[in-house]
Amino acid sequence: MRLPDPALVVLVGASGSGKSTWAGARFRAPEIVSSDALRGIAGSGPHDLDASEDAFGLLETIVAARLGRGLTTVVDTLGTDTVRRRGWLAAARSAGLPAVVVVMETPDAECRRRNATRDRPVPAPVLASQLATVRTLRPDLEGEGWDVVVAVTDAAAALPDPVAEPVTRSGRRPAPDRVGSHGVRVVLQVSRFPWGEDPLAWLGEVTRAADGAGFAGVALMDHLIQIPTVGRAWEPIPEPWVTLGALAALDTELELGTLCTPVTFRPAGITAKAAATLSALTGGRCFVGIGAGWWEREHAAFGLPFPPDRDRLDELERAILTLRALWAAGTKAYDDGEVVLPETTCYPRPAASIPVIVGGSGERRTLRIAARLGDACNLRTTDTEQLRHKVAVLRDHCAAVGRDPADVAVTVLDLPVVGRDRDDVWARVERHRGRTPAAAYAARTRAGTLADHRARYAELAELGVSTVFMATPDLDGPDAVADLAGLTA
Ligand code: GDP
Ligand code: MG
Repeated sequence: MRLPDPALVVLVGASGSGKSTWAGARFRAPEIVSSDALRGIAGSGPHDLDASEDAFGLLETIVAARLGRGLTTVVDTLGTDTVRRRGWLAAARSAGLPAVVVVMETPDAECRRRNATRDRPVPAPVLASQLATVRTLRPDLEGEGWDVVVAVTDAAAALPDPVAEPVTRSGRRPAPDRVGSHGVRVVLQVSRFPWGEDPLAWLGEVTRAADGAGFAGVALMDHLIQIPTVGRAWEPIPEPWVTLGALAALDTELELGTLCTPVTFRPAGITAKAAATLSALTGGRCFVGIGAGWWEREHAAFGLPFPPDRDRLDELERAILTLRALWAAGTKAYDDGEVVLPETTCYPRPAASIPVIVGGSGERRTLRIAARLGDACNLRTTDTEQLRHKVAVLRDHCAAVGRDPADVAVTVLDLPVVGRDRDDVWARVERHRGRTPAAAYAARTRAGTLADHRARYAELAELGVSTVFMATPDLDGPDAVADLAGLTA
């Protein structure tokens, strides 16, 4: 079962019912606020009942601080104090976090047995009263206002919940068409190039690793200066069509292309030529992501005009028509009223049809252009509600322009933080978040384990997404790519 995250998680259960074990198997140590542990910090040890008041004072402070930052907080106490429990629920509400209560329903006899084997067992009458309290509490919880009430009935069975999904470098390969069992193809977008002294070797190793890890393709950004959300302006960002030519020389099965080429950088005919050449060199493994461009600074720096939105979007339409005209069979003249070419002599011819992926989410024009002229539309969101909405708008445009929606694939750009386990995920969040609050950064990057992202990809597939272009901030070299193999299978 998947719990909301971030969330408040309040445990309820008698001593020995397995609360701490359950929490420890699922959450990072700093996320668990335990009255026993705090008794050991404010007092002489977990059983120092004289330190209870201090321990609970600390506990309330920590819970409030974490919830206020939007961080997952697991409250590990008996959970039977109704006033405290409702207080935590209210604090989660005002922090805007979902609230989960987890009731341990371990059989009484099992609790007694475990209690008896402990260093300092709880006295038998105390345990009996805890067990009775938890039993009578159960029906109250349903009406208390929790978003999720979880009953852990068979703790032993629930224990080996996979915290991390083991990944082998070569073992996991998706189907030949490279659709994972979650239902999407995953293309690696390489956006950072920490290639050290040997750029070509680095590119080769990363690309081979992507092939080995089962990615469906490699996409390169098309920017003249590294964009601020990815890196610093003085970090390398290579010209993609030149770079894709180098990747074409590797013996892989990857599709290769840009995400996205701005129409403002090159005349459309030159992009048509580059893509047709790449298709010829790779036996048809080429795609073109294309967009209207958005970053004025890189245009100015490289002496390129940056016309107003409306003109760039007009150009986007003309560019796609030009690509298609030049890639079409024959050399005949082309005139569709918008684009006029006296001949369409473009050799080498593409070795297979080249998918055109229209980048951008502008509802009025970009999505309409994608509906009219694209093979796919790349959306920059993986949020369920936003995605549902954008896909509906795209479908409406398809209906308006008389295009079969099945002919316009939905792809998304996904920028996740991916970790081996919860601890690793949070170490990465801390490393990359800069000054963004951790909870906000984790939410934006969907920070999670491979298993979390696989579950998310299955949801994206249900929403109609066919391909996920994924770029992670941790892509330092081939090992980091190999570690992502679990995402593609
Ligand atoms: P708490 O008092 O509710 O926090 O319970 P603990 O998590 O400390 O567990 C009490 C004892 O039961 C410990 O010795 C655990 O190792 C053991 N235990 C907890 N959960 C399980 C479980 O799911 N299966 C088994 N076999 N033992 C468990
Ligand atoms: Mg405990």
